[in-house]
Amino acid sequence: MSVCENEEQEVNQLRALIAAMADVTPDETPSERADAKLKLAQLEHQLASAQSALDNCRRVHTWYEVRLHVVRMANDDGSNPTAVTLANAEEWIRVANLVFAPARLRVLLDPATDFETRNNTRLNQLVEGTGLKDDDDAINDANGIGDQFPNRIAVICRTSRPLSAPPFGNCGPGCGFSGFPGKYVIMPAFDPNLAWLFAHELGHYLGLPHTFRFVIDTTRDAGIVFDILGDSLQALENDASVVNDTPPEMIINDQSAGPNTSVSFGGQTISFLRNNVMSYYRPLTLNGKTITQGQAARVMAVLQQRRSAGLDVAVLVGLCSDHFYTTSVAERDNAVTNVGYTNEGIACYVFDLQAPGTKPLFRLRNSNNGDHFYTTSVAEHDNAMNNLGYTDEGTACYVFDSQVAGTTPLYRLLNSCDHFYTTSKDEHDNAVANKGTDEGIACYVFDSQAPGTVPLYRLFRAA
Ligand SMILES: [Zn+2]
Repeated sequence: MSVCENEEQEVNQLRALIAAMADVTPDETPSERADAKLKLAQLEHQLASAQSALDNCRRVHTWYEVRLHVVRMANDDGSNPTAVTLANAEEWIRVANLVFAPARLRVLLDPATDFETRNNTRLNQLVEGTGLKDDDDAINDANGIGDQFPNRIAVICRTSRPLSAPPFGNCGPGCGFSGFPGKYVIMPAFDPNLAWLFAHELGHYLGLPHTFRFVIDTTRDAGIVFDILGDSLQALENDASVVNDTPPEMIINDQSAGPNTSVSFGGQTISFLRNNVMSYYRPLTLNGKTITQGQAARVMAVLQQRRSAGLDVAVLVGLCSDHFYTTSVAERDNAVTNVGYTNEGIACYVFDLQAPGTKPLFRLRNSNNGDHFYTTSVAEHDNAMNNLGYTDEGTACYVFDSQVAGTTPLYRLLNSCDHFYTTSKDEHDNAVANKGTDEGIACYVFDSQAPGTVPLYRLFRAA
C-alpha cells in the first residue's frame, strides 16, 4: 500500500471537481456565472493546499537507498591486508546512516556480494597528494574499480596511512578522501574513535565541501592568520557556494582534542563545528556528528542528479510497502538485519537450479518505490525495465509455467504499488476484498518440499 493514499485521493477528487466545472452551460445567468467563478477559485485554493500536503507526505516518507561496494586492498602477494572487517564496514555504515538521516539517505551493502579483498600493492600503499607516479597509477586503479560498479558507491580501503599521526590522533589529512563528482571513496584501516570518518568522505562524494578553508597548527598562529585576513569571518568561509547554513570556521590543530567550542580573536568569535561531519574537529561525543539542513538539501539535490544519470542507483523507498521473495538465507537475514524487512516465513518451494520443464522467475525492483516484482514473462520483464522504472535483479528461482502434478498456483496481486505473491486462496481473496488487484497466476510451485526444491522465503517491509 501507499502511505500517502489519503492525500492522493484528496488531490484526485479536487482535480475531478475542477474538471467537471469546465463544462460550460450556455444558458447560465450572470449571477450563476459569478457563483461558478467563486466556486472554482475556492476549489483551486483547496487543490493547492491538498497538493502541498501530498508533496509533504511524500517528502517525509521517502528516502534514498544507495548500495556500497567495499573493496579491502592487500599487497600483490596477499600480505598486509587493510585492517577492515565486514563488521567494521557495517559500523561505518551505521554511523553514516545516523549522520545522513536528515538527507533521507540510507546506505547499505549486501555482505554476500558487496565486500571483497583485492591484491594491488600500489593501491594498497596509496598516499594522497604525493605527486608520485605510483600514486597516479593507483588513482587510475581506483577509478577502474569505481567504473566496475556504476550501480554502487565503491569504497576502497587501503592500509598505507599510519595510525597515530598527531595532532589528529589516529588520522591526518588525506587519511581518507573522495571527490565530487567522484568514482570512489578511499578509506584507511578502521578506527573505532573515527567511525564517523566514512560519513565525512561520503559527504565529499555527495557534494559537501569542508566547513573550513584553513588548517592551522596552533591557536597563536591562527590568531596571526586571522589578523592578516583582516579579522574577517567571511574570509574563513569555504562552502557558501553550495551550503548556506554552516558558519565559517577554522581548524586549529592544538584545539582539536580539547573541549573548547570556540575561540575569539580581535573581538570576533570563531565557532568550532565539532558536531558537523564536514569539520575536522573531534565531536564531543562519539556519535556527535551530524549535518545541517543546508547540507541535507545539497546532498539530496546531488542524489537526485546522480539518480537521474543512473549513477549509484539511488532507489527511492518508503512510499510503498514491499513484499520480497528470495531463496537465499544470507539475503533474507541481511534484509531483516540491515534493510528493515520482517521475515514472514516460507512462501512456497521452488527450484534453485533449472529443472526439466521449469522456467526462470525473473526478479526486478522499482527504483521509484522499491517494489519487488516477479514474472516468468520475458516480454513483461522487458516492459517493466524499459517503461516502468524497474531494474533487473536476475533470476529469483525456477518454476513451472503451467500446472504439473503436485504443484499449486502462486497468485499474483497488486496492492497500490506493492506486488504480492501467495499460494493461499484465502489470503488472495482477502487481499482482493481489501483494495488489492488480482493479477492472475504468476506460476506454479510446490506447497510442501518436493525433491530438488528449496524454500522461497517471504519478507515484508511496511511503507
Ligand atoms: Zn575531508
